[in-house]
Amino acid sequence: MRQRKSHSPSAAAKPAAQAAPPRSSLSSARSAAQPSAAAPLLSVRNLRVEIPHRRGAVTALHDVSFDVARGEILGVVGESGAGKSLTGQAIIGLLEPPLRISGGQILFDGQDLCTFDRARMRGMRGKEIGAIFQDPLTSLNPLFTIGEMLMETLTTHLPLSPTQARERALAMLAEVGIPSPQERFGHYPHQFSGGMRQRVVIALALCTNPRLVIADEPTTALDVSVQAQIISLLKRLSREHGTTVILITHDMGVIAETAHRVCVMYAGRVVEIGPVRDLVSAPQHPYSQGLLQSIPRMGAVLERLPQIEGTMPRPGGIPPGCAFHPRCPRRFAPCDQIVPPPLPVAPGHVAACHLFSGASAPGGGP
Ligand code: SF4
Repeated sequence: MRQRKSHSPSAAAKPAAQAAPPRSSLSSARSAAQPSAAAPLLSVRNLRVEIPHRRGAVTALHDVSFDVARGEILGVVGESGAGKSLTGQAIIGLLEPPLRISGGQILFDGQDLCTFDRARMRGMRGKEIGAIFQDPLTSLNPLFTIGEMLMETLTTHLPLSPTQARERALAMLAEVGIPSPQERFGHYPHQFSGGMRQRVVIALALCTNPRLVIADEPTTALDVSVQAQIISLLKRLSREHGTTVILITHDMGVIAETAHRVCVMYAGRVVEIGPVRDLVSAPQHPYSQGLLQSIPRMGAVLERLPQIEGTMPRPGGIPPGCAFHPRCPRRFAPCDQIVPPPLPVAPGHVAACHLFSGASAPGGGP
């Protein structure tokens, strides 16, 4: 007999029975096409994540703070090791031990997720917070059909009868662009292409109409043409259903096309955050400038693409002062001594860099 295994990030007990509104009515209830100016849905405050070590703990995330408005797509960008995925895992309660949250708050609609026990967090995952990971093959259970996975997720989190769950699953498959959903309902993950599998993962993440979706490198394992389809699908679903999305990627191009705001991370800290147009057209932090300069541009004739010299430091080897200073072409006196605080550089736009602190940089300010 095959072992029954959970297909969603959570297999929590079913919530108290109450009439489940159809997906369409849930959607229209929060159909904001634009981010809401109301209180943020998610507010991360001074989040610290550490790795216990026999000679003391190593800090992997340092006082990470940002807000995400309802209906907003926040892009989180940075090189490998910047702390993007750790931030997503901390929010969804899936940090791999021995990693642990050692400080700060993750306020989801006013409730601090850091105070939730595992059972309560399981109840949030899948229902209120969905997740889309990089590799659809590892997100899907190869032993079950996509219909079985969708039905389990739906009946675990919503008080639906099997008939209602099946109807909703079929509607969701059609919505994410799976052709012939009736027929494909009984197919296994290996019978789908990579792009179609990622559509199934998106259907699983969104079928319970979660308020927040964390998409961690959702297109990295896909061909460029399929990437574009998946990104436009995510954008459409977020717009139509008012879903808040945290889109984690190393690809500035994906962020520029998709996000409302961008959060740039480096060595476990937020170094710049601002509206996507401002940040992409005029990045302020030298690290963000380096990331954007390293993107190939149509028509640009260059012998060699600019790149940021050096590599991202490991959590145990973060240099003092500004963690970026060994790689920064604009470093000056305070940079290797003092950690720069986040400083306003334009309305709604903040950068953590001494260039904006009034300290005199060689050759003038920013
Ligand atoms: Fe460069 Fe100094 Fe700004 Fe860090 S604080 S990014 S080292 S100028």
